This record gives sequence, C-alpha cells and structure tokens, in this order.
Amino acid sequence: MTAWDALAAQRAGIPVFEAGQVWLAGAGPGDPGLLTLDALAGLQQADVVIHDALVDQRILALAGPQARLEFAGKRGGKPSASQADISERLVALARAGRRVLRLKGGDPFVFGRGGEEAMTLAAAGIPFRIIPGVTAGLAALAAAAIPATLRGVNRAVIFAAGHGADEDFDWAPLARSGQPIVLYMVMHNLERIAGALMAGGLSGATPAAVIASASTPRQRVLVSTLDKLAADAHAQDFEPPAIVVIGDIVTMRAKLLGERAPAKERR
Ligand code: SAH
Repeated sequence: MTAWDALAAQRAGIPVFEAGQVWLAGAGPGDPGLLTLDALAGLQQADVVIHDALVDQRILALAGPQARLEFAGKRGGKPSASQADISERLVALARAGRRVLRLKGGDPFVFGRGGEEAMTLAAAGIPFRIIPGVTAGLAALAAAAIPATLRGVNRAVIFAAGHGADEDFDWAPLARSGQPIVLYMVMHNLERIAGALMAGGLSGATPAAVIASASTPRQRVLVSTLDKLAADAHAQDFEPPAIVVIGDIVTMRAKLLGERAPAKERR
C-alpha cells in the first residue's frame, strides 16, 4: 500500500485532483512533517509539479511516480523564469489536461507570488484550488522555541520583507508599535534595517535572533541584540534562507530551553 492509498482510505472527503486543474500549494519551510495533508494529496496525484528552490528535496520525493518535476525559480544567481512565464506555463499545462501542482516554499501568499498566479488562473478561466502552507516565519520561531505571541508580552506580530519591497519603506512605525517584528529575505539588508529600526526608537538592547534553514538538517539559531545582530550573523557566517525576529518574545527561548534541555544543551 502506498502512503497515498493509506491516507485516502483513512481520510473522508480527500480532495481529488481533476484533470485540467491547478493547485497552488504551500510546501512549508522544509521538513516534510510540516506539509498539510492536502499538499500531500496534491503531490501524490499531480501529473506535473512546478516548484521553486525553497521546496525541500525531501518533499519532492513524496511526488507520485507519474509526476514530472519542473523547476521554476532562481538558482545559483541565474535569472529566474519571469512570473508571467510561470503563470502562462500553469495555464498551458492545465489547458493540455494535466493535473498541475504549483508548489511554493512556506505559504504561497506570504511573500510568494501566489496571488499573481491565482489572478492569472482566474482570468484564464482555469479551475484552481489554494492550499495554504506553514510559513517560514512561524515555523522558524517554533523551531527556535520562540513563541510568536505570549499573553502579557505582545498582542500582534509583524511580518515584513527586508528585500524586494520599496526601498523607501518607513520602518519607524513598525519600531514604534512595540510589537515583535519577523523579517523575511533580510540577510543582505540586516545592518541597514536594524539601523532604521533603532533610529525609529527601538532600543539597541532589544532581543533579536536569526534562524537559518529552519526545519532542515542545516538549521542554526543565533541569539543577540538588535545593535549587534548584523555583525554577529556576519561573524558566524549565517546565510539565507533565514528568518530574523526582533522583540522581547526572543527571551522566552532561554526559558523554554532551560526548562526542557538537558544540562549539556543548555551550556
Ligand atoms: N512563501 C514563503 C516565503 C518566501 S520569501 C513562506 O511563507 O515561508 C523567502 C524567504 O523565506 C527567505 O528569504 C527566508 O527569509 C524565508 N525562508 C524560507 N524558508 C526558510 C527556512 N527553511 N528557514 C528560514 N527562513 C526561510
């Protein structure tokens, strides 16, 4: 019995991938354990899987034997296929009667291009389904034992992109909110953005952390303070993909690990 047969036998109302449909699915941050059952159902039934570089090999390995894997995204500094090309490819494959799974790292709509793809599909009259994924911001915090919200500490969480957005972006209102800030795609701009947040009123002593390659075997966590974060990350060779989190919730990590970890890990 395959994993798919076992799942289909046990789960009532499992979604059936129709020929000519596109599913836009989140693959989570890396660990296949963080896939949703619907994303797994898509992988097992798809004829074509179109994925980007953030989708872990362990997840692609769950595709059914009939599935063809197609890469669409940036790799090794080479220019990526344009978003219009990818969207058109989804439309063409669906029109040819394929079951098309568009698989994106994390959640397709959190700093992904899922919204643009969905709009193209809707305009072309292609039936599609959206399957959310576990976004890296939340998965990385969980992996680092940092609660995204904690009663009495914060009542909001800010997700922001450190790259690709308008360079004139005003960071001061985020700093003033006093709520934790979770940054994606920030490693090349970390010093500048940390500086902007401090200029906006955040103390340099604010706890901060970098979580790289969360939920993969290469996961690394760095805990520091806002004023030293960029220098520490550079000195310790932290590389993308990484999530940065700034705020008092970071201090919970020591408490959670202190109560959980054996003495050796605590040191
Ligand atoms: N749609 C994705 C984000 C795409 S933007 C999501 O919801 O997670 C790409 C950024 O996501 C990276 O620059 C990095 O900041 C973050 N990211 C993706 N996978 C990650 C991982 N395994 N560990 C840490 N950060 C990750």
